[in-house]
Amino acid sequence: VELLKEKIRQEGRVISDDILKVDSFLNHQIDPILMLKVGEEFACRFAGSGITKVLTVEASGIAVALMTGLCLKVPVVFAKKKQPSTMEGDTYCGRVRSFTKEEVIDIVVAGSYLGPEDRVLIIDDFLASGEAARGLLKIIDQAGATLVGIGTVIEKVFQSGGETLREQGIRVESLVQIGSLAGGQVEFLN
Ligand code: 5GP
Repeated sequence: VELLKEKIRQEGRVISDDILKVDSFLNHQIDPILMLKVGEEFACRFAGSGITKVLTVEASGIAVALMTGLCLKVPVVFAKKKQPSTMEGDTYCGRVRSFTKEEVIDIVVAGSYLGPEDRVLIIDDFLASGEAARGLLKIIDQAGATLVGIGTVIEKVFQSGGETLREQGIRVESLVQIGSLAGGQVEFLN
């Protein structure tokens, strides 16, 4: 967690009062050693919960989800942002309003990769309004699978997605919590 904060302090760029850019290690260039540590941390926090699948959304969640799946030794499924012509059979769908791109997208998972026997951990890079998480919850619901919890690398607490999800009784683990980005300053909570 301290390493992550240090990276954010040194390399993060505050784009506006609500967007943090971390392209040098998470969203464009990826630091694999840091990602592995992040995966180990999530695996440790959710150890013993009987997780069978890690679920994320393409593209920026994949690196973190992959490392978490590696540490938990379970498969990683990423929801696709468009239904490819190669996707056959039943599909589960969710609708997500993209926070950074200001558009509405449909996310899709093939029926064969999620089912009622699965215990699912949702992993994402950022938690802001919780839209992406809610889209994935809808997919888990359609699959009849069980949600174990949500793990996110950076939670922007002032955007209340985490609060709403926790109020629903969902376990949300964030490695770094940001209380404010006002005035170009990153204010950490934890
Ligand atoms: P939410 O759906 O919770 O509003 O936003 C989560 C998604 O939006 C994440 O998957 C992430 O890709 C993107 N996102 C939200 N806030 C930020 C931000 O401050 N910086 C970056 N780089 N991505 C963000």
